[in-house]
Amino acid sequence: MRNALSFDVEEWFHVHNFEKYIKYADWDKCESRIEIEVKKILDILDTNNTKATFFILGWIAERHPELIKEIDKKGHEIAIHGYRHRLVYTMTPKEFEAEISKVKKIIEKIIKKKVIGHRAPSFSITEKSMWALNVLEKLGFKYDSSIFPIIHPDYGIPKFGTNPKKIGKLMEFPMSTIKLLGKNIPVAGGGYLRTQPYWFTKWAIKQINKKQPAIVYIHPWELDPEHPKIKSTFLQNWRHRTGLRANEKKLKKLITDFKFTTVKDVLKDMRLV
Ligand SMILES: [Zn+2]
Repeated sequence: MRNALSFDVEEWFHVHNFEKYIKYADWDKCESRIEIEVKKILDILDTNNTKATFFILGWIAERHPELIKEIDKKGHEIAIHGYRHRLVYTMTPKEFEAEISKVKKIIEKIIKKKVIGHRAPSFSITEKSMWALNVLEKLGFKYDSSIFPIIHPDYGIPKFGTNPKKIGKLMEFPMSTIKLLGKNIPVAGGGYLRTQPYWFTKWAIKQINKKQPAIVYIHPWELDPEHPKIKSTFLQNWRHRTGLRANEKKLKKLITDFKFTTVKDVLKDMRLV
């Protein structure tokens, strides 16, 4: 069974966790690390002959078009992660449509190919923003991968379930979870991947693979312990920096222990797109 490997391509200063400290107007003054980080990821994937999906922010695509071309040329899938990491449920359907169609145009012009996949910033497609799936279908997307079937203060639809399913004509590939003591536990992505021991991640993916493929998501800054430190609360800092140093090794183990490919190809394997 092939699992889906995905990267949410954003800078260390784009994370929702630090919104209060770094304003949008100051983004261009921050040290950009994305080229170093993505090139490191591309080398790791090349070494293991693994393909992945890269969900790109429009803001990054405008500033690093050659990097986007390079990811595409290596045979990875290019998909969309919004323009400037605005949470979907803070926008009106019209604002969301305008923003996503703008990013789609920017990225399709760079790679000269149609983009079919979308992931919302911070999994912000929830019960109150399910309308976003209709907008994505209207804009020509074939799949979305934004719903986290867990209970969390900022996101999540616990009842959604873990298997990919069609909503209208759009396929939704939810984030991977496993059931422990009656609760959906998030595994194999972001801070969960960094803070959970590798044996647990491996065991969880094996459990998921008894029924379906798993999906792993990683942010490029999560493989870059050298990115600048932000003055923030202890908890915010813990959330952002725990497990950074060990994460590269975890990614290498993951792609050795399991087969991974793009989200698009996993959905094709399941005859869902
Ligand atoms: Zn993001």
